[in-house]
Amino acid sequence: MDHSIRQPEEILAGSPVAAGIKSFGELMTETGLTLVRGDTTTLQINMGLLCNQACRHCHLEAGPQRREIMSAGTVEELIAYSRRGNFLTADITGGAPELNPHLIRLIDGLAPQVKRIMVRSNLTALTDGPQTSLLEFFKERRVVVIASFPSLQPAQTDSQRGSGVFQNSLDSLRRLNALGYGREGGDLELNLVSNPGGAFLPPAQEEAEKRFRRELKTRWGLSFNHLYVFANVPLGRYRNWLDQSGNLESYQQKLVSCFNPAALGGVMCRYQISVSWEGLLYDCDFNLALDLPYGGRKVHVSAMDGPPPIGTPIQIGDHCYACTAGRGFSCGGAICA
Ligand code: SF4
Ligand code: SF4
Repeated sequence: MDHSIRQPEEILAGSPVAAGIKSFGELMTETGLTLVRGDTTTLQINMGLLCNQACRHCHLEAGPQRREIMSAGTVEELIAYSRRGNFLTADITGGAPELNPHLIRLIDGLAPQVKRIMVRSNLTALTDGPQTSLLEFFKERRVVVIASFPSLQPAQTDSQRGSGVFQNSLDSLRRLNALGYGREGGDLELNLVSNPGGAFLPPAQEEAEKRFRRELKTRWGLSFNHLYVFANVPLGRYRNWLDQSGNLESYQQKLVSCFNPAALGGVMCRYQISVSWEGLLYDCDFNLALDLPYGGRKVHVSAMDGPPPIGTPIQIGDHCYACTAGRGFSCGGAICA
């Protein structure tokens, strides 16, 4: 760790912890810890806030009424950046990226540039969206599907994500399995993402993966490759829900008390850069939600010559407690063994 981080007050105020709880910036300063970029190998692309769901935990407050989506022009600028950036992985997210009419062009443009393309799907938009042949297209391009599947309980899933979502998700998983996705030893990768339904941290990832694998197989005959668990980040709609249900302070205290400095080395902002639907750069999707831009100022993807330099300070805030609690959480699930 060779760079100290100076935090502007307005950034630390972006996601304030409750009174009496130390801010993440103060904690880092007092402990002499820093958070800077490593080798940025992943280009994360947020195609917009339009979504067919309006989940209770959504940090971006995405939903059917949102109109912010990536334009065809920005898609071309992203493809050009991927050529300059020499990234290994493209990680496409939203909102529901399936609802963006330029998704196929984006994947086609990225395919020659990167080794691995991932699409984060809520599962319902995958089969209900306007682009009906998406599944076959994903299969042809060997796109890795990262699918939200928070719980094995239908009622819990539907209360978090909307009525009927659990059953629709099972239907999509069936179609993915039928195409060859999620089979052991196959080359069509299907990974599930689970996040808690309330104001608590997720269980240990290995145990949860075993349980999901066993239950999905025995109850519905379904398979997948890996399960990632995430802690919910207290931003957006989830923060509002915590506040309204009287859980905000206790949840924040829990995150702070579980702070694990060992997780800092694996947080996703160290090795990926997030680009918004407008083509603006952020250290991660949570900073995008808070509008804390990469480098502390608005930078458009067209102005970048390559990936962010190693050692660039990361814009931190109190929401970073959610990535560094317990075993820590990144885009690939738990960080520490
Ligand atoms: S959490 Fe995902 S599926 Fe749910 S509203 Fe947000 S973007 Fe859509
Ligand atoms: S929220 Fe997580 S990924 Fe984003 S800057 Fe903080 S530690 Fe990094």
